[in-house]
Amino acid sequence: MPESTLIQGGLIVTGDSKGTIYPGGYLRIEDNQIADLGKGKPKGKADKVIDAKGCVVIPGLITAHTHLYGILLRGASLNIEPPTDFAQILQRVWWPLDETMNLEDAHASALSASADMLRNGSTFFADTYSGPNSIEGVLDSVADGSNRVGMRSMLAFEMTERDSVEIGHRGLEENVRFSGCAKCGGLASLMMSIHASFTVTDELIQKAVEEAQRLDVPITIHTSEGLVDLYHNLERYGERTVERLARLGVLGPKTVLAHCVHVNSKELDLIAEHKSSVAHNPMSNMLNAVGTAPVPGMLERGIPVGLGNDGWIYDPFENMRCALTVHRLENRDPSIIGPDDIFKMATLDGARCYGLEDQIGSLEPGKLADIAVLDGTRVPTPLTPDSVIGHLINTFGGRDVAHVFVNGVQVVKDRELTLVSDEEVSKISRKASEKLWSRL
Ligand SMILES: [Zn+2]
Repeated sequence: MPESTLIQGGLIVTGDSKGTIYPGGYLRIEDNQIADLGKGKPKGKADKVIDAKGCVVIPGLITAHTHLYGILLRGASLNIEPPTDFAQILQRVWWPLDETMNLEDAHASALSASADMLRNGSTFFADTYSGPNSIEGVLDSVADGSNRVGMRSMLAFEMTERDSVEIGHRGLEENVRFSGCAKCGGLASLMMSIHASFTVTDELIQKAVEEAQRLDVPITIHTSEGLVDLYHNLERYGERTVERLARLGVLGPKTVLAHCVHVNSKELDLIAEHKSSVAHNPMSNMLNAVGTAPVPGMLERGIPVGLGNDGWIYDPFENMRCALTVHRLENRDPSIIGPDDIFKMATLDGARCYGLEDQIGSLEPGKLADIAVLDGTRVPTPLTPDSVIGHLINTFGGRDVAHVFVNGVQVVKDRELTLVSDEEVSKISRKASEKLWSRL
């Protein structure tokens, strides 16, 4: 008999395409799927019942772009000359870090970053790992770490030829070798990742596209995050970044372009024409001072936009709030983007980026049971079907996430991890980062 769980009495925000909300609703999980949900009292019994009275039940939030290993830099005091632009941030912070990473660090960071996302209500992430001295086998270490806390993920090794052509190809081979984690019960799957247009040749890009198509997996690439990418492509190829990617066959329905800060309207048209998606990382863009992505223009064209954290703040609520405010500020127009747009980016459209919209991203019968239950106790004004989306963007935070389910398994209970203790996660992560910092 498969285990069944009933979540009842909560305000259920399904996040489906019609925006269905059930006040005082129920949701039944059978095995790893959502069996049914609706308003009022459910029929039948369940092995386990969660009383969600006063709570809001939402789809597990989708992190459309991240770098788990970024978590090991928290609090590190780096002895470097302060970077003054994005290229220097890569050269002085990220690249020395990824050169220092080993398999133990990959595992520890995957464990602690996944734990952090789960505790904050995110149940899926798309991660690209980078590290020229830890290539072969690293995706198993990452999958192992995230699987230990019960997180769902899509993983890739980030190919780059910034050091050598050979290292670029070894990255490609690691992706092909991994092809998903067999022992993770379907929780960790594969995608292809290319670092960015300015660190790879046409040849590697085309090979990566070929392999992604052969394996039928999504492909992702950092796209005009900083001006360095745009200028490189203009100088070397006489093309803007998205134009070059289109010429090389990268664009397609399974392609996720991360950032797209420095793209013009012609490039947005190209992305829309090819039905590609964008992973938007507003907090990271602000941190790195690269600029603001033209997200309103993407939404106008029907481009699916997901929300990522790019390896910085793993609380999806903070990223949602930032996405709401930064475009209003940039456009000096408080009506340019609203809470509904942002919630969709963090749920169904985030899933759509990776072709997973039929499996995750909303609460609907038959979908995988990835769910977050938020404690509404601290909400200062009425929590109703009309106010709840506003509260999700303006009021709630990761601190309010009480329970989390992934694949039907309760992985967070009363704000604590269930599969590994929070203390154990911190212990493993601190030990690895202490050693990493001493090598940096
Ligand atoms: Zn990134």
